[in-house]
Amino acid sequence: MVSDIRVRFAPSPTGYLHVGGARTALYNWLFARHAGGLMILRIEDTDVDRSKPELTTAILESLEWLGLKWDEGPIYQSERLDRYRAMALNLERAGRAYPCFCTPAELQTKRAKAESERRPWKYDGTCRALTEADRERLRAEGKLAAVRFRVPDSGVTTFEDIVFGHIEVDHRDLEDFVLLRSDGHPTYHLGVVADDLDLRITHVIRGADHISNTPKQILMYQALEAPTPIFAHLPLILGPDKQRLSKRHGATSVGAYREQGVLPEALVNFLALLGWTPRGQKEIVAIEEMIRSFDLAAVSKSNAVFDLEKLAWMNSEYLRSLPVERLLPLVKQELSGAGLAMGFKDGEQTEEKLRQTVFLLQSRARTLKDFPGAFRAFFTDDFAFDPEAVKKYWKDAAVAILLDELAGRMAATEPFDLAGTERTLRTLAEEKGVKAGVLINAARVALTGQGVAPGLFDVMLVLGRNRVVSRLRQAADRLRSSEGHGLSQGN
Ligand code: GLU
Repeated sequence: MVSDIRVRFAPSPTGYLHVGGARTALYNWLFARHAGGLMILRIEDTDVDRSKPELTTAILESLEWLGLKWDEGPIYQSERLDRYRAMALNLERAGRAYPCFCTPAELQTKRAKAESERRPWKYDGTCRALTEADRERLRAEGKLAAVRFRVPDSGVTTFEDIVFGHIEVDHRDLEDFVLLRSDGHPTYHLGVVADDLDLRITHVIRGADHISNTPKQILMYQALEAPTPIFAHLPLILGPDKQRLSKRHGATSVGAYREQGVLPEALVNFLALLGWTPRGQKEIVAIEEMIRSFDLAAVSKSNAVFDLEKLAWMNSEYLRSLPVERLLPLVKQELSGAGLAMGFKDGEQTEEKLRQTVFLLQSRARTLKDFPGAFRAFFTDDFAFDPEAVKKYWKDAAVAILLDELAGRMAATEPFDLAGTERTLRTLAEEKGVKAGVLINAARVALTGQGVAPGLFDVMLVLGRNRVVSRLRQAADRLRSSEGHGLSQGN
């Protein structure tokens, strides 16, 4: 399906991609994909002091990581300054804007006075009624002028927001806002309207914090005799304490969640639900299904709460259910990031073994960090023993003898498969008159360093016979050498 629908995501590179920005990008992307339209990426980098090229790079990377590929752009506002100046001039010529010679210091004094008298401040229109002669004189004096939009004296501006419904603003509540600063730089309003017009944007989808900007921008479209796009503002995102989401609540950038081992699929699914409830109230929704059913009209205007526990749950759901082929490259990245590049150094861990290992572990992972972390023993011999597990499962003095014996028998088990290894262990337990569970738990600690791990025989198969035998022997040695020193110190 092809349509004329064109939306844009317009981040300012003054910070990393925030989860709120990512949600905006996602909704634009879903809307465009659903409708067969296009998403344009625009970098709003006209704030020279605060915009940084490396932040643009980071934003692009985060969008790509999330899988939100744009169709056109990135378009950089900093490369379009002439266009903005021309538009300001046009509005000035048409009498819809005027030069304002008030200096920042003058404005500041007036604002402070209004504040001290508890009057709401808005620009008082000092330069509104200057004659052309006045302007010439001021210019001749070397005074620099900003350009202000002339808001009509009376009347109202209204619009129908797809999410927030009917919105109406009385012009008396708006001030003559600045379009072009005296240094020739555009304000946000000028850049946005010029670009949205030039890019033929049909739907402006952005955070609810922009609602108050919309009437001003609509007035500009009208002054330019241009069609106004349709607006959809997205609900604010709050922390669990119902305050606006901020660093106080923890990580707020997409990159930080990536670093914490969150899967892009999980984050996308989580962000999609911050304001939108897909049909059937399902929580886990595949991206194709989101595209199919996305509907701005179904977006709620109530604030959305960013619930970290839900994100953690979703992440483990995705880790469990994604095809191992999808996880494998991500796990490898994590491993190499932790210095465990190819798994075991002796080359025993073939690609296929690695695949089996990840397949075995994925249902237990909460984040990708678990692979080099809690699951470390599956990828390197340099792993630690959990002191609690040691205390609990290696307390019996007979354990060392049992583990040694088990090592010998595993070395001779044929075939070394699930049934074979299990039979060996159970036979040994019976012969020695111990519960199989005791032996299983002791062996699990020996092989993984942990008290909790996947089924022991599965673990044995992914580790391979040689490693199983040597780890059981080492555990036995360790136990013997630590006797009398207190086993639980072993680690
Ligand atoms: N650059 C603006 C921001 O980061 C977005 C402007 C818009 O969407 O109109 O919030």
